[in-house]
Amino acid sequence: MNNIQNSYIEGLFARIEALYAARKVLGDPSEEELHAEAIDSIRRISHSLKGSGAIYGFPQITQAGQIVEDAEDTEVLAKLQDLISLLVKVVMDNESREVNILIVDDDPSITDFLKRRLDLPKRTIFVADNGEKAEEILSDESIDLIILDLILPDIDGRSLLLSLRERPSLAGIPVIVLSGKDNYSTKAECFALGASVYFEKPFEPGELSVAVATLLQKYADQQREARSDPLTGLPNRAALTEMFDRTSSFAIRKNQSFCIAIFDIDHFKSVNDTYGHDIGDKVLYAVSTKIKDYLRQSDYLARWGGEEFVALFPDTKLDGAIQAIQKSLNAVRAMIFQTKKPEVRKFRVTFSAGVAEVKEGVLLRDAVAEADQFLYLAKSSGRNRIFSHDDNAIPVQEKIILAEDDDMIALLVKHRLKKHNFEVSHFTDGASALEAAKKETPELFILDIKMPVMDGFELLRNIREIPANAKTPIIILSGLGNEKEIVKGLNLGADDYLTKPFSPEELMARIHRLLKRDK
Ligand code: GH3
Ligand code: MG
Ligand code: MG
Repeated sequence: MNNIQNSYIEGLFARIEALYAARKVLGDPSEEELHAEAIDSIRRISHSLKGSGAIYGFPQITQAGQIVEDAEDTEVLAKLQDLISLLVKVVMDNESREVNILIVDDDPSITDFLKRRLDLPKRTIFVADNGEKAEEILSDESIDLIILDLILPDIDGRSLLLSLRERPSLAGIPVIVLSGKDNYSTKAECFALGASVYFEKPFEPGELSVAVATLLQKYADQQREARSDPLTGLPNRAALTEMFDRTSSFAIRKNQSFCIAIFDIDHFKSVNDTYGHDIGDKVLYAVSTKIKDYLRQSDYLARWGGEEFVALFPDTKLDGAIQAIQKSLNAVRAMIFQTKKPEVRKFRVTFSAGVAEVKEGVLLRDAVAEADQFLYLAKSSGRNRIFSHDDNAIPVQEKIILAEDDDMIALLVKHRLKKHNFEVSHFTDGASALEAAKKETPELFILDIKMPVMDGFELLRNIREIPANAKTPIIILSGLGNEKEIVKGLNLGADDYLTKPFSPEELMARIHRLLKRDK
């Protein structure tokens, strides 16, 4: 690769980031008002990629850029994924990363020759002249490729190959066998044991160099693919396991505490059942991205499986981890999802989480099992909350803004809502309720129509103009026999109404219906 290509690839990082940012907005139904802008920005970047790719020797970028630029608005998100994957691949392919090669051979003339031949920048070459030494290096270093002689002083190379393939962490490493045994059955046996390439001595050095480069590239691709979850882009369980081990030994060395949490989306099955699997997938992507946004850069969020995620919080005490999860739960609760077909429907989701401090020397599965016990408690005590110790429940209070000037009705409504674990902000006139609505996004508004200073209609109209509350559910309270009021309220954007006098059960039923929650 030449210098000009190098600087072109440098420049791709910024574009990938910009496309990621736009993709995030586009994938988040709660940011719908920004979608058109995101699409424009994606088209502009795609257009410039289309123009520049081929000039710098990457015709595939030109092609992929054109596809996105020409895509219909509704197709942009899907096509963009291919473009981003391609750009990431180009950057990765052209980025020379550190690799470790292990040569296992007891003939110094061969090892010296191979060392000279294969020694390029960013490659470290280890040499073992017997099986035991090879084992030692394999346990200390992260090896990316092995060149293995079949005849070793202490072990048959085939036995070494077999024992490698039996260990999950080493099973995928490519192995080039160098054999002096020129017979078909040895070759067949080596392939059966998982050799990647087989060279008979004497071998052609050029061919060996090419095999090494190709296998290293393939292995790097596999590693990358094997470590990330395609739906959410998050690290998967395999990557989490490695990260956990590293975090754990670092915490022990530095005498730091670290925490683990497991998140599980509430009633996710019913999201799939009600809105379809595709929407379910989008929700998974949007929710996991939102959670990640609210964690620190140094925290690590992975997909554990299905609708479950695990986070690691290095150098963090329990209350710090709980705070971070609480912020992300608030953010997820504020997201409003919307379906377009067959009709427009809005819904929200929540998650439950269990958190635990990781004790020294504990394995990932045991740490997750402990956090999982707390998750179970969070689920069984009503979901939409975070649990850490069984005696330390932290229910997350959901807020409702109530605007009502009648003291008696306000008292009854507040009493009932508090019993259902809602936090209520009560205002006795429309103007002060509006001030509150400008500052926050509650779960729901309950608005009386007849109020001093600013009546319920004006308040309703104003709330709908605040972007953060444009879609927040609103129930209006109207006087008996005032059908016109109800119609006017619904036309102004109220989601439901109650006629005074109403029963507390009726109020709760409407709230739960609007919030799509179980009781
Ligand atoms: P709970 O509140 O108790 O966690 O209820 P739940 O419905 O979320 O839990 P349950 O374990 O019964 O159901 C999980 C659902 O998640 C079932 C499965 O179809 C769905 N799911 C798992 N992985 C995916 C995925 O990748 N995409 C989609 N769309 N759905 C998934
Ligand atoms: Mg589950
Ligand atoms: Mg669930």
